[in-house]
Amino acid sequence: MFLRYYAGMNGRERTYDCLVVGGGAAGMMAAGRAAERGAQVLLLEKNGRLGEKLRITGGGRCNVTNAITDRHVLTARYGDKGKHLHNLFARFTPEDMRGFLRRFDLDTKVEQEQRVFPVTDSAESVQRVLARYLRDGGVTVRSGTVVQGLLRAVDPETRQNRIIGVETQRGEQIRARAVIIATGGTSHPETGSTGDGYPWLQSLGLPVGGADVSLVPIRVPDPWIRDLQGLSLQDAGLYVERLEGQNTTGPTDPHVRDHASWANAKRSLNRRGKLLFTHFGLSGPLALNTASTIRELASGAAVRIRIDLVPDISEDAYRYEVQTAAGSEGGTQLSSFLRRRFPPRLTRAICECADLDAGLKLAGISKRERRLLVETVKGMPCSFGGLMGQDKAVVTSGGLDPAAVDFRTMQVRGIPNLYVVGDLLDFNRQSGGYSLQICWASGWVAGTHAASLARKAGP
Ligand SMILES: Cc1cc2nc3c(=O)[nH]c(=O)nc-3n(C[C@H](O)[C@H](O)[C@H](O)COP(=O)(O)OP(=O)(O)OC[C@H]3O[C@@H](n4cnc5c(N)ncnc54)[C@H](O)[C@@H]3O)c2cc1C
Repeated sequence: MFLRYYAGMNGRERTYDCLVVGGGAAGMMAAGRAAERGAQVLLLEKNGRLGEKLRITGGGRCNVTNAITDRHVLTARYGDKGKHLHNLFARFTPEDMRGFLRRFDLDTKVEQEQRVFPVTDSAESVQRVLARYLRDGGVTVRSGTVVQGLLRAVDPETRQNRIIGVETQRGEQIRARAVIIATGGTSHPETGSTGDGYPWLQSLGLPVGGADVSLVPIRVPDPWIRDLQGLSLQDAGLYVERLEGQNTTGPTDPHVRDHASWANAKRSLNRRGKLLFTHFGLSGPLALNTASTIRELASGAAVRIRIDLVPDISEDAYRYEVQTAAGSEGGTQLSSFLRRRFPPRLTRAICECADLDAGLKLAGISKRERRLLVETVKGMPCSFGGLMGQDKAVVTSGGLDPAAVDFRTMQVRGIPNLYVVGDLLDFNRQSGGYSLQICWASGWVAGTHAASLARKAGP
């Protein structure tokens, strides 16, 4: 049951001002805000507790928003569809979110790339603020309640669809003057985000794009990557080499370390950022933000990923560093030389990728080997084994087309008392606090407007 025509009241039902489906970041913000504006609010959540996904954001630290102050720069981070967000971010800015947390005695700090984190470095502390916001506003929370679909009626005068409320899995019908859907996307389904809202919106004739992974880690099948599991590089470079028209029979075809075969490859996608090695490949902001583009580059071509371990130093400068060391301290072992810049695990991986014996003395390294060493440090070659699945995605693309929403209010166009917020909206989001900023802003604006709509609708 995605959508049911409402048969009529039986006289015993209570009508809430505002009903919010989904108690994630966006739903909690929407419910708290509507209550703060005087609405009687019911929040329905299928999990046993609220905010399961919020708790795992930012590796448990919660990159709560991004401190970019120029709205044009901020909206540009969401690609073409970012133009829809001007109105929304004019109403609730990243600074507003920081102010909101401050109101509840939670200060924030700004880190690399303007990422904002709570000073506690704890997503749980952000969750606690939202829980208090709900409590202070007197929101009724019903966890462990699975909503099955929307109840609709057609307004006899305007012939417009109206949402009357929702029906739960237990067959209970709950009425409300305004309904906010905040059921999230499809990434990390164990947190409750299983795309339940998509078919509800589709059955209303709304444009909903199929879910696809958007911010997702990259699979690298090379064996050395496993030894680096858990290692993070604060600043790495990443670029891709592409052999067009190459028969791609496997992820490592031609072999990534067969440099001669890649001599004519076209280089693209030069990015820098924080990179994390995992047991299956690459994660962290740099990998997440480039994954979809790499997948596009890999269609109909062979690609290899290269990681620049010293992006601040040019290839010539690093070659000079190696040459000088070989001349002035020829007795030093290669492994000791590399350890001046890199941790031991990475040193081993560099030697493996460059086919060099870590025990070699610098003076004993041939010119060809030196070239290989420099090439490896300036571009460790990695096979591209595709992207991880939706379950491992940080954000999924897909969802309700933003064109179907009025971002001044978060109302769905043509259905005045229906609001859609958070990950259920189809935006490309980069890693950096951008995703949660949509959740906070859309929740805040929807809550504000739904409360005033309910007030106008009267008892
Ligand atoms: C590992 C990871 C790390 C991330 N880190 C960051 C970060 O640091 N910064 C950032 O900006 N973004 C981050 N994100 C993205 C961010 O977590 C999401 O954008 C955000 O949590 C989405 O919030 P939401 O409220 O829209 O949806 P969700 O958090 O998915 O909440 C939806 C809620 O609806 C409930 N629900 C679903 N269906 C029903 C139903 N039928 N009935 C009742 N309830 C239902 C679910 O149980 C869930 O609680 C991260 C995501 C992941 C997976």
